[in-house]
Amino acid sequence: MEKIKMTTPLVEMDGDEMTRIIWKMIKDELLEPFVDLKTEYYDLGLMERDKTKDQITKDAANACRKYGVGVKCATITPNAQRMTEYNLTEMWKSPNGTIRAIMDGTVFRAPILVDFIKPVVKNWKKPITIARHAYGDIYKAVDYRVPEKGQAKISFKGESGEEWESVVYDFECPGVLQGLYNKDSSIESFAHSCFKYAINTKQSLWFSTKDTICKKYDGQFKAIFQKVYEENYKADFEKLGLEYFYTLIDDAIARVIRSEGGYIWACKNYDGDVMSDMVSTAFGSLAMMTSVLCSPDGKFEYEAAHGTVTRHYYKYKETGEMTSTNPMATIFAWSGALRKRGEMDGLADLQNFADQLEGACFDTLYSGIMTKDLVGLAEGIDAKAVTTDKFIAEIRKNLEKRLA
Ligand code: NAP
Ligand code: MG
Repeated sequence: MEKIKMTTPLVEMDGDEMTRIIWKMIKDELLEPFVDLKTEYYDLGLMERDKTKDQITKDAANACRKYGVGVKCATITPNAQRMTEYNLTEMWKSPNGTIRAIMDGTVFRAPILVDFIKPVVKNWKKPITIARHAYGDIYKAVDYRVPEKGQAKISFKGESGEEWESVVYDFECPGVLQGLYNKDSSIESFAHSCFKYAINTKQSLWFSTKDTICKKYDGQFKAIFQKVYEENYKADFEKLGLEYFYTLIDDAIARVIRSEGGYIWACKNYDGDVMSDMVSTAFGSLAMMTSVLCSPDGKFEYEAAHGTVTRHYYKYKETGEMTSTNPMATIFAWSGALRKRGEMDGLADLQNFADQLEGACFDTLYSGIMTKDLVGLAEGIDAKAVTTDKFIAEIRKNLEKRLA
């Protein structure tokens, strides 16, 4: 069989621990035998980040901007314990945070669904994708413990000399105080990313805030989304039969629970943080959750939502035996990136390969062969737990059948 050709390179970002081992297995068994893989490789493994003073992460993010599509392996975000473990020169920032800042993107998280894992919410039939505005609000807030009786004020001094001041509260006893902000430019980028991703995946977009209470703050989010929609995306949405739907966060939550899924739910930073944990848990497994970073100008970076699965890695290193770690989300990061590359470059074969690769994963799961994490969740199927290498070998067999 002749290998499928690529024209533009895909930005490949390698990572750490168990997912780094799985990364190589996926390439060796599921990609390179079938595709004449053209990637620009960046090693974001912690050692290399330390060696390059994290320049490698910035270079990789800029390459994503240049080529438009990247695929990333999970990486360690160092903490104090990692400083000693890897003898690091500095506690490098989260690579995902760095990449997100350079791409100015929004993260979309969506579950991979299989019939034999029933969502906790029984009417959910299709994926619910959460888009979280990962900038500002309480994550960049000024926090203060009010120690005694006194007056709290908030003020602004403009470059033009314009001044504004308001009393927050006359404290009659100790308490707490917080100052938050966000920026029009960041909210606009968030809106563009959401509408673009909705059109790309042909799903309707929901957006929710608490503008009845935060009239100016959340009101600005609502107004920017409406304006960006009307000026840029309304015509395309109508052509594709999609809906842009704004509602209050309380109403959104009630509707999400009653819905059958199949849309994107854009959330402010905190709402997205907590709701994405609720939605992913209710769908079944973190190991089956994919993540796409989409920039406002339409560049994409694909990855698994989970981390480097450290506990499995330590066990693997200790015993030398292959673990039963689920590679699904990492495989789908590759298929998502290859499909997008194929779409951008007009390569039908590459797009088809991405479909067949995902199909072969489902063939394997529906034949009852899966990793340990899924066996515990599977209902109405004779499920057997295998190690990651056996699972991938089975996917390869199914892929060969499909491509024959
Ligand atoms: P994690 O790697 O997601 O793993 C947490 C637990 O979830 C695992 O111990 C495992 O449970 C289960 N799990 C996650 N993915 C799985 C998979 N593919 N197959 C089977 N089980 C899976 O999170 P963590 O242990 O908190 O973090 C480990 C490292 O990853 C940290 O250094 C962190 O900085 C990094 N991290 C990176 C990213 C990223 O690059 N996007 C995201 C999150 C965390 P059991 O042990 O019960 O089997
Ligand atoms: Mg959270």
